[in-house]
Amino acid sequence: MAYYHVCEYCGSNLDPNEKCDCQKQEQNQEQKSEQKEINAKRALAS
Ligand SMILES: [Zn+2]
Repeated sequence: MAYYHVCEYCGSNLDPNEKCDCQKQEQNQEQKSEQKEINAKRALAS
């Protein structure tokens, strides 16, 4: 029997210890927007 866990955010079937990609993507988007700010500041500084 396959045992799986359903993501409460998007409803995806996950392994019991797996974190859903939908939450990863949110984190990545935050990191990307932070990175964009850093790059913009660097561009202004140079
Ligand atoms: Zn999810």
